[in-house]
Amino acid sequence: MAEIVIRNLRKEFDAFTAVQGSTFTIDDGEFFMLLGPSGCGKTTTLRMIAGLETPTSGEILIGGRDVTMLPARARDIAFVFQMFALYPHMSVRRNIAYPLVSQGMARRDIAAKIAEVARILGIEGILDRGVGGLSGGDRQRVALARAIVREPLAFLMDEPLGALDAEFREHMAHELRALHDRMGATTVYVTHDQLEAMQMGDKILVMNHGVVEQWGDPQEIYDRPATMFVADFIGSPPMNFLHVEARAGIGQDWLEIGGARIPMPALREAAPGPELALGVRPEHVHLRDDGPMRAEVLAAEYLGASQVVTLQTGFGQIKARAGVANRARPGETVGLAFDARTLSLFDRASGRALRSALHDAPAEQRRAAHG
Ligand code: ATP
Repeated sequence: MAEIVIRNLRKEFDAFTAVQGSTFTIDDGEFFMLLGPSGCGKTTTLRMIAGLETPTSGEILIGGRDVTMLPARARDIAFVFQMFALYPHMSVRRNIAYPLVSQGMARRDIAAKIAEVARILGIEGILDRGVGGLSGGDRQRVALARAIVREPLAFLMDEPLGALDAEFREHMAHELRALHDRMGATTVYVTHDQLEAMQMGDKILVMNHGVVEQWGDPQEIYDRPATMFVADFIGSPPMNFLHVEARAGIGQDWLEIGGARIPMPALREAAPGPELALGVRPEHVHLRDDGPMRAEVLAAEYLGASQVVTLQTGFGQIKARAGVANRARPGETVGLAFDARTLSLFDRASGRALRSALHDAPAEQRRAAHG
């Protein structure tokens, strides 16, 4: 298995730049998610790692070997396209054996390998059936078996669950992750679904317009988004932004907005301009009568275990995720309170997060803030 190192990777299609110079590292054995909206360059990135697309510039190293200019077949990786891509006229066993037969492996070794992957995927009972009559789940398992049987250095998957309905998708996501935990193979997985990325990934890389916005572990991405784009793309409902005009210097740990002093983590970096956005996750907006900011309830969505309350503040609409002990009623005025340790501050012109003392704090301290 192998580490994948990407340096300044760039892809131009004529005048259009699909990937603008990405640099990131996928550790050995990691389940790594490439996440972003449609057209952001995820598939192009994956295809360059696979060797199906030639980079305009940059480097790709797999297991320490520079593979940038090597053809796909020389890279020792498995590209799992749509998982349904099986040979329809062959049995399950022959489908799985196919890559090994092409490699010229001895029949006895092939039989042993097939027995092993069939056991891992729980498909021993269907090896002699044709693939035509299989259920969707079994087809996925067979396609995966065919990919893992030749023990590639890494797996590349492009929206493998995209065509499935929600319930089955959830089930297969768990199965894929469990399979990864058993095998520990480096996996690069493209998705536009932030929830899928959060659920399955060891690391998430967020792309937008061909640019890497941020990469890191899911909690880091959620708690410390590097840009407003990431803060908005991850989370449901996404992070709220209170649009404020204020000056903020190094060490400052509050913002004066609308006559109220909103606490925030002490800044390590001065704001370049006065147009700022205070970022707060819905679960960190507290509805409290004595809160320093007033807001009108516009709507309240009851979700059983929680309610999502839409609020009009003097700085834009925001959403709060609150408990259901006191149901919010449209039209009423409520007080809002924020916990300094959970807030982010962004420069609106660049969309970049201004780093604060807490944001640089060790992980334990940040976790304590979420108590
Ligand atoms: P999606 O989820 O919609 O597939 P994506 O993030 O995977 O999106 P890519 O498929 O990598 O995006 O495409 C990135 C951009 O590059 C898109 O605007 C796409 O139209 C363009 N593109 C991709 N392949 C080519 C090509 N062969 N020629 C020209 N433009 C291309």
